[in-house]
Amino acid sequence: MSKVVVCRPVDGITINSEMEFLLDDEDCVRIFDNVEDAKKILSDAGCTDEEMEHMKFLESCGVCARCKSPLFPSLLPGYKYQCFTCDEDFYSFEAMKSEEVKPDEL
Ligand SMILES: [Zn+2]
Repeated sequence: MSKVVVCRPVDGITINSEMEFLLDDEDCVRIFDNVEDAKKILSDAGCTDEEMEHMKFLESCGVCARCKSPLFPSLLPGYKYQCFTCDEDFYSFEAMKSEEVKPDEL
C-alpha cells in the first residue's frame, strides 16, 4: 500500500487555486499510510465530504535515493517528484541517481 499526502486549496473550496500540503503538528508535510486512513483522519478532524472532494490525495510514486523516504508527485510545473524529507523537487528519475547525494545531507 502506498503512502499518501494530501493537498488542499489554499483558500478553502475554490477552483484552480493554489494547493498546499496538509501539515502535521511540527509543520512537516503529513504522510498518511493510505488514502482510506487519510480520509478517516480528516473526517475525524471535522473535514466534510465536500471539503475532501476538493482535496488531492497523492500516492507515493517511488523512494528517494538520498534518504529512502517516499517520493510524491511534485506540484511544481516541470518537476515530476518531490521528497519532503530532503525538501527537494526532482525532474524525473534523477532522484534515483546515487551521484546526486550531497555529503552535507548524510
Ligand atoms: Zn529524500
